[in-house]
Amino acid sequence: MNFLPIFMNIKAQPCLVVGGGEVAARKVFLLLRAGGKVAVVAPELCGELQRWADAGDIQYEQRPFKADDIDGKQIVIAATDDEAVNSEVSSLCKVRGIPVNVVDNPKLCGFIMPSIIDRTPVQIAISTGGASPVLARLLRAKLETLIPAAYGRLAALVDEFRGKVKEKLAGQDIRVFWEQILQGPVAEMLIAGQDKKARAALEEAVEKAEPPAQRGEVYLVGAGPGDPDLLTFRALRLMQQADVVVYDRLVSAPVLDLVRRDAEFIYAGKEKDKHTIPQENINALLVRLAKEGKKVLRLKGGDPFIFGRGGEEIETLMEEGVSFQVVPGITAAAGCASYAGIPLTHRDYVQSCMFVTGHLKDGTINLNWKALAHPGQTIVFYMGLHGVDEICKQLIAHGLSADTHAALVEQGTTQNQKVHVGNLKTLPDLVHQRDVKPPTLIIVGEVVQLHNKLAWFDPAGEDSAKFPAAQ
Ligand code: SAH
Repeated sequence: MNFLPIFMNIKAQPCLVVGGGEVAARKVFLLLRAGGKVAVVAPELCGELQRWADAGDIQYEQRPFKADDIDGKQIVIAATDDEAVNSEVSSLCKVRGIPVNVVDNPKLCGFIMPSIIDRTPVQIAISTGGASPVLARLLRAKLETLIPAAYGRLAALVDEFRGKVKEKLAGQDIRVFWEQILQGPVAEMLIAGQDKKARAALEEAVEKAEPPAQRGEVYLVGAGPGDPDLLTFRALRLMQQADVVVYDRLVSAPVLDLVRRDAEFIYAGKEKDKHTIPQENINALLVRLAKEGKKVLRLKGGDPFIFGRGGEEIETLMEEGVSFQVVPGITAAAGCASYAGIPLTHRDYVQSCMFVTGHLKDGTINLNWKALAHPGQTIVFYMGLHGVDEICKQLIAHGLSADTHAALVEQGTTQNQKVHVGNLKTLPDLVHQRDVKPPTLIIVGEVVQLHNKLAWFDPAGEDSAKFPAAQ
């Protein structure tokens, strides 16, 4: 070990930062966050430090560093771009036994500063011993995604109950109790944002001197439109702790790859006119699996509450008293539009945007065409590929010009994305000529013309990113 990692209490303690630039400002920021009383010595200040000085958050001495500036300081940081000054600060502090840090110069340091993951009161510090601050930062970014933001609240809740638990469980193994709390339903509830429920469950557990039993639960999770990088942190975390996953046709293969390997996989996909599992059976399946005590991941393409029947699924869970959480995902409209370079709204073209279903039933689509056919709005059709002729015909019949720009985004956000651009007159033919396949989103409106200017996503079209063969 090259350094001893410690966490220092600097609340209301005098700290000194020598230097007034942006690097100094970053250090001052941390010292202030930890409650330090910060003095800054520098001939001039950057904008941020100046604001803090004006607000009275720091005490500022506008002049070069003097040896007695370090008197009475608990820690000192040198962040000037003058090596001689930095090294003078370092040697003066070392003689006096004051912990000193010199930015970007480990040799002159009495202590070094780690990369920090802050979930106060939980803090994780990462250091490479000064070897590579960039590596420390990369590690930090990785860990940030794995550690739920709620861990701070979890630690605070535990802290609150610590004394009571010690009293109630006197003579028992307190460590086991807390292990079960921190890996069980109480922690899950808190992470899911159900703080009141979590507190009540913990209170009850302390009262009974017994942690609550593991329970089955359903995670209704939006998997986004295809690109696995578009998953939320929470989606990824729940995907990695599921016992069983019930997934749709629209969930892309690279996303499925991120689900815990030893989970049981159940395909509940729907193809047009060929319902693999009817909706009622899916609802019943989720209830049964959860009641068996399993953590059930219900993984849906895009967002579960946008043309995803997520509402119906959780209604059944509610009725059956099964716990659940809902995790939003990036809906196809947002994902496809971004990756196709088509902003859904734009000050110069449109004032509103509609998401509608273009699902064809008995040769018609049940929509209020009059409300849709407005030049000043973008319309996004989900499930509209088979009804594309009808969609274009109705929009023209209800007043939109046949020249209105329109696009088909096929397998949006995946390595196989294709964008076909035309207008209400040409779109149906494009579908046949280019053999466009689902999943495809239709975007109608003047914003489509921006695609030529703003398209940025240029995938290689590798097979690995294809949607599952089931479709
Ligand atoms: N809940 C999903 C939508 C389900 S409806 C969401 O929020 O995105 C299914 C329709 O979504 C498909 O028929 C298609 O129109 C659209 N869709 C989903 N993913 C898509 C993708 N990657 N590319 C293009 N369209 C997509």
